[in-house]
Amino acid sequence: MLKIEIDPSDLRREKGLIFVQNFNFIENSLREFILKLRSNLLFSNSQIAHFVQEKNAACVQCALVYPLSPPPKESYAHMLFECPVLETLKFEITEENQTLKFLLNNENAVMGSMNQNPVKRTAENIFMSAFNFIYYKNRNANRIITAKFLVKSIFNLINVETDKIELLTAINMLKASDLYLNDGEENR
Ligand SMILES: [Zn+2]
Repeated sequence: MLKIEIDPSDLRREKGLIFVQNFNFIENSLREFILKLRSNLLFSNSQIAHFVQEKNAACVQCALVYPLSPPPKESYAHMLFECPVLETLKFEITEENQTLKFLLNNENAVMGSMNQNPVKRTAENIFMSAFNFIYYKNRNANRIITAKFLVKSIFNLINVETDKIELLTAINMLKASDLYLNDGEENR
């Protein structure tokens, strides 16, 4: 399992994630996912393969996208940030969009946003958690995950009627993505 050293400046990250986990305005399934992430209760395929004999330890997305090379094992780190398919998805979503660049920081992916601004920090944590949640849930289905699918699914997950500034900021971050606009579902 990935060992994460906690230093005092990381407490802000941890508190930020706890805040989102307790945020009543987002879906319970997403809040539960954050709890599992924080408690090390998310399991990669290689971890499950240790105790379930018929489980394949390989990363399904790597096997689908690079069928000619033997797929790497899906370790915890591979599942959360090392997977090249996942990395490419993050690049595709953040391209041309400065406000989404935080997604490319691997520590953010596991420990939460370091943004100094509390509203932006919460918005980034909502977005990042939703991204991880959708990827986690869909990665083992026998189908390549696309950036468009992720953007659409994140939007469906976090787009609720609200006047909460943190949530509105997260929704606006997503709407600013090229992939969202190209979908043609929303007129400006
Ligand atoms: Zn992979």
